[in-house]
Amino acid sequence: MNHTRRNFLKFMGLAAAGLCAGSAGSVLAASGAPSVKKGPQALSAKRWGMVIDTKKVGTKETIEVLAKACHQAHNVPNIPGKQNVKWIWAAGFEEAFDQPNNYMDEGLEKREFPILCNHCTNPPCVRVCPTQATYQRPDGIVAMDYHRCIGCRYCMAGCPFGARSFNFMEPRLHLDLANLNKEFPTRMRGVVEKCNFCVERLAQGKQPACVEASSGAVVFGDLSDANSEVRKLLREHYTIRRKPSLGTEPGVYYII
Ligand code: SF4
Ligand code: SF4
Repeated sequence: MNHTRRNFLKFMGLAAAGLCAGSAGSVLAASGAPSVKKGPQALSAKRWGMVIDTKKVGTKETIEVLAKACHQAHNVPNIPGKQNVKWIWAAGFEEAFDQPNNYMDEGLEKREFPILCNHCTNPPCVRVCPTQATYQRPDGIVAMDYHRCIGCRYCMAGCPFGARSFNFMEPRLHLDLANLNKEFPTRMRGVVEKCNFCVERLAQGKQPACVEASSGAVVFGDLSDANSEVRKLLREHYTIRRKPSLGTEPGVYYII
């Protein structure tokens, strides 16, 4: 029996036993919107944003630590090859910032940059989505309602950052079942997914998973609060954003 088939049977067994995502019923419901239950400790902001110190997290290995934490927290399927699904990953300077430079500083040229959805202030992905499956929350987070996604991929064409992944294959066949996060929904084939700035963790008073795993290299906070840690970093360091000339106003800043 091949790995995929074995994984599927194992998943169905767990689902039937009610062990996946809470109960068998919720496994099916789990293809919809993540339920964001707000606890008393919920973190809130007028405009969430992120500052990444690429001097501290600038190699494939260090970025893999962030990706592992994120992908495990969100049951992101592990599909090798072109149909892979990713929420955060590593890219070189040119790919990340679209700024070819023949005479670049060698350190910067060799550095890797963690790439994720920018939770843009003016998100083209939201504008082109015909079903409002992707929408912008008042706190700036660009969220997904998997129930509403019809798989047309307009949002993927609209995003100039390649931040979205399409589930070409049945993602539930490619889950790490031993480490399944039962609190977060799994998706189904034909659905688009991406980084959600960990809305479900913020609702429980927790920092995003990548921030927690980054040993201080990634900082998350309220961009509208002049006293926040992110604003302090933006005051003290030179930062750049991805493709600023497009006017989407990314909410992710990179200290270089
Ligand atoms: S990075 Fe792409 S997917 Fe994320 S908000 Fe901006 S346009 Fe949308
Ligand atoms: S903010 Fe959360 S969802 Fe986004 S990349 Fe970090 S860990 Fe993943």
